[in-house]
Amino acid sequence: MTGIKDDGAWRENLLRIAPYVPGEQKETPTLIKLNTNENPYPPSPAVTEAIRAFHVDALRRYPVVDAGALRRTLADYCGVSAQEVFVGNGSDEVLALAFKTCFNSEKPVLFPDITYSFFPVWCRFFGIPFEEIPLSDSFRIEARAYAVPNGGVVIANPNAPTGLGEGKDFVESLLEANRDSVVIIDEAYGAFGAYSAVPLIRKYDNLLVSQTFSKSRSLAGLRLGFCFGSAELIAALDDAKNAFNSYTVSNLALEAGKAAVADDAYFREQLAKVVRTRDKTAQALRGMGFTVTESLANFLFVTRAETSARALYAYLKEHNILVRHFDRPRIENFLRITVGTDGDMDALLGKISEYTDKRGV
Ligand code: PMP
Repeated sequence: MTGIKDDGAWRENLLRIAPYVPGEQKETPTLIKLNTNENPYPPSPAVTEAIRAFHVDALRRYPVVDAGALRRTLADYCGVSAQEVFVGNGSDEVLALAFKTCFNSEKPVLFPDITYSFFPVWCRFFGIPFEEIPLSDSFRIEARAYAVPNGGVVIANPNAPTGLGEGKDFVESLLEANRDSVVIIDEAYGAFGAYSAVPLIRKYDNLLVSQTFSKSRSLAGLRLGFCFGSAELIAALDDAKNAFNSYTVSNLALEAGKAAVADDAYFREQLAKVVRTRDKTAQALRGMGFTVTESLANFLFVTRAETSARALYAYLKEHNILVRHFDRPRIENFLRITVGTDGDMDALLGKISEYTDKRGV
């Protein structure tokens, strides 16, 4: 012992923050996993091919710092220029960087009271003041509620966990009312049928639109997200990233990402399958007396007055079906159910009717 006294004063300097709580990632092989909005279908065969063809020796080198080729691929795909695209390690990282980069006002950043629960966590992490604006009784986002002085606006479209999407008129009125702050539209689930604000980045230089490879392209494990915005906003994001971690996207992810975007036919085919299963399952649940929101995402948000969502969640879990229950005001009697394969959903519906029949609830 050196005799140096540890009085624990360092503890006073620790960041203490309540983290975002992701859905459980269990590895039970028989589990039907409908809790984290992953895609039930595999990534494109072109991705498998790209990973097989990848030269492991390339891992000796750092990746290109600006994800150049993938940026250009995404830019061409969406009809914008490479200077209007930013790529990161999942859209969570892109969004977090965007919060840090764009929200530096003393006025609060605005987002709905029911939305992606990472938004308030990032605000606390970065010390950004925020205000949660209540959704309407039918869970819609009301654009006029955001026409107040603010330090920024963030909207998930479609929103999570409601699945409800807002159209062009909504996004434009939000942007018209907010020319003096950055507006971020999180389109993590946009490919499943919602309006995309990407074309508006040329009209509004304060707009950022984020998307991800995780859901619609079946690549949650690869960690690739991106966003579109004016060249000025994208340059600011690049500087912020390079002030924190230059190499956020691996060589392998860059190659796999390019291959995924190139295989558009496969992408559209899988999307159509998920959408078909979503709409069929929603109908079946409505037939069983559930209220199901008009989801434009790859999940359903469901409730039934006489059924306890918490108890049904527990029953499904006991039977190896994992869905998501949020213990939060206004939505505590809802379940969020990821759209799986037709087989997954048949098993789910079977267990739900078994539960409601057995209990008479
Ligand atoms: N936005 C929303 C609304 C989400 O639900 C998620 C996934 N949890 C993300 C962004 C981030 O996804 P990823 O980091 O996998 O791109």
